[in-house]
Amino acid sequence: MTIASINPSTGELIKEFDELSADQIETKLAAASGAFASFRTTSFSARANWLERTAELLESSSRQLGELITLEMGKPIKASIAEVMKCATVCRYYAEHGERLLEDEEVVTSASRSFIRYEPLGVVLAVMPWNFPFWQVFRFAAPTLMAGNVALLKHASNVPQCALAIEDVFRNSFPSDVFQTLLIGPRAVANLLADRRIKAATLTGSEAAGRSVAENAGKGLKKVVLELGGSDPFIVMPTANLEVAVDTAIKARTVNSGQSCIAAKRFIILEEIADEFLSSFVSGMRALRMGDPMDEANQIGPLATPQILEDVDRQVRDSVEAGAKMLTGGRVIAGPGNYYEPTVLSDIPRDAPAWSEEIFGPVASVFRVKSIDEAIELANASDFGLGASVWTNDETEQRRFIDELESGQVFVNAMVASDPRMPFGGVKNSGYGRELGVAGIRELVNTKTVWIGNGPKNDRSE
Ligand code: NAP
Repeated sequence: MTIASINPSTGELIKEFDELSADQIETKLAAASGAFASFRTTSFSARANWLERTAELLESSSRQLGELITLEMGKPIKASIAEVMKCATVCRYYAEHGERLLEDEEVVTSASRSFIRYEPLGVVLAVMPWNFPFWQVFRFAAPTLMAGNVALLKHASNVPQCALAIEDVFRNSFPSDVFQTLLIGPRAVANLLADRRIKAATLTGSEAAGRSVAENAGKGLKKVVLELGGSDPFIVMPTANLEVAVDTAIKARTVNSGQSCIAAKRFIILEEIADEFLSSFVSGMRALRMGDPMDEANQIGPLATPQILEDVDRQVRDSVEAGAKMLTGGRVIAGPGNYYEPTVLSDIPRDAPAWSEEIFGPVASVFRVKSIDEAIELANASDFGLGASVWTNDETEQRRFIDELESGQVFVNAMVASDPRMPFGGVKNSGYGRELGVAGIRELVNTKTVWIGNGPKNDRSE
């Protein structure tokens, strides 16, 4: 199989790569395993220095790396550069705090001394998506390397140049073979998960890929972290600042041209403000500038692949056929490129794809509700549970949303976003395990209990 880098804005083939052979995979796996033997004993301060160096390299080449992101997956250039800069912040966060988050923790027990030690596991396999081709990798790699693990990356097949550029950054900042990219397709993942040298895995991607990786990791009894899809609710109550809520709603739905797991996808609006919300929301979605993602003035780029464009188009058409109303958009822009018009759907029946499926493009589904009870019930009536954004200035309502929403994160009067200091992850079909924060660095380590008893001394030693 060849792995192709294709410009989603023009459809032009940029570069092709051969998938690694079984022998080439074995060489890289053996190198990773060999690298772990010495890397695991390196000090936290050495690893912190290597992470700092990584951050410097990212910052100094943010434009060039950002252009590569835009070229391969179509993200508007300003956002691509910001993504690279955010990767530097996660490197610096774990460089600064990693040692404290993983230092021995004393526990008072009946032992003469007892403590918890966090030790690296070994080679970790990361299966990553194309939508934030740098951020998804760095938010896993920075804590895992700081913990003393080594990493193998199987990146999405449409971003091979990003995958190689990331390997290059780490090659220039960390000891050899501590981070390597494997240019392979999904079929090679099962064999890797069966290999004894791979100790754990982490996957960010679709539910289907999550099930497959979890199944294969399960066969090998390996721990796996799954960051899967989402259909995040964005709930607006009458006490909200409507202007700010609408502006944020547009941004939250169209971030990364709509291709974000934590993009707001279902807009649940209280009946009494629904008309006002909709009229500004629809005109704001219409006014977005779509076009060449290398042009800084454009806010929406192409979708990453023709397949995604086809999926989004089918989901919208099927929803309209099932009875949903199209308030704006709904058009594939004639080629070249995978452009889809920002779209708003309302009056969505339960059997429509827009009701239950994740739509990975700039398509907003709007629902009217009569009460907070109905809003919470509708928000929770999803198989996903990644994030939720709620807009209200009423403290009782805020508390109810925090207590009752089934999701890995609740943002009040703010857009759902990841932050290196806070854990990130979901519940239900959005996956399990956490990245970032203290939880993220402790996911892929051996939490070792050490108990030093106060049994009788050996008489002969006296
Ligand atoms: P995808 O098709 O699942 O691909 C993600 C990665 O998994 C790619 O590297 C892909 O390789 C690999 N893969 C696919 N099928 C596999 C299998 N059976 N076994 C092993 N690996 C497999 O997902 P996508 O369409 O690229 O990404 C979009 C999805 O990711 C959305 O559902 C989105 O919500 C989710 N996502 C979640 C988060 C989060 O943090 N929760 C963040 C971003 C995206 P190939 O490219 O070679 O097929």
